[in-house]
Amino acid sequence: ARPAPKTQASPPEIPGVASVIAVASGKGGVGKSTTAVNLALGLARLGKKVGLLDADIYGPSIPRMLGLSGKPTTTPQKKLVPMEAYGIKTMSIGFLVPEEQAVIWRGPMVMSAIGQLLMEVDWAPLDILVIDLPPGTGDAQLTLCQRAPLAGAVIVSTPQDIALIDARKGLAMFEKVAVPVLGIVENMSYFLCPHCGGRSDIFSHGGARETANTLRVDFLGEIPLHIAIREHSDAGRPIVAVAPESPQSTAYLNLAVAV
Ligand code: ADP
Repeated sequence: ARPAPKTQASPPEIPGVASVIAVASGKGGVGKSTTAVNLALGLARLGKKVGLLDADIYGPSIPRMLGLSGKPTTTPQKKLVPMEAYGIKTMSIGFLVPEEQAVIWRGPMVMSAIGQLLMEVDWAPLDILVIDLPPGTGDAQLTLCQRAPLAGAVIVSTPQDIALIDARKGLAMFEKVAVPVLGIVENMSYFLCPHCGGRSDIFSHGGARETANTLRVDFLGEIPLHIAIREHSDAGRPIVAVAPESPQSTAYLNLAVAV
């Protein structure tokens, strides 16, 4: 990991949570949430107690990807009890308010919601909490990076140039808030045809590795574009949870070992 260039007052610890990492992307639609879910499940397969926080207030997709619905209960101490699926604990604004409501929130409401999801949830005990950050490098991301005791961040990018420029922005943001970047992972790296097994580099290939080299951060691997990954996500049965032995799961399991 690239060392954080400057220090600043550390954010408070989350009670009972040993380590926190963020999954980030410069823009939406690159597969950040899919990666966060399967990374969390991969970490659980390594024997860790894992939590997954969906911090994407405007577009929460974790509940659907984990096949969860319903409302969380609260503890006698008024903390939210995380929902559970496939052995991981999770919390999302999607469990708490209807989608139409959160999308019209302004910045301060979003910040306050993120603060609650982080601190007012009964996460303990966790070895690692994975935070699915909102896409981009705006206010919500900066605040979260300042408020959460982040051990590091994983940046997800597709091979395309435009997404890579955004990944660079993400890197600059983490430098600003002194969060170490654990590395860049290339999603939709290449297409594996489910019929013939042939490979095509739909969005070109290798761009994220090059960028990682140029920016001197670790390259954390390539995740293929594969219909099974999308289908499993849409069905609420993530590939690493239900088909960990499949070749498509390997990239996520390797990522879990790398972070
Ligand atoms: P983001 O969180 O960056 O907005 P998502 O994780 O929601 O992106 O992914 C966007 C869409 O792409 C979803 O339909 C998801 O199932 C699909 N997707 C993500 N990664 C892959 C992949 N490696 N192979 C196939 N489909 C993928």
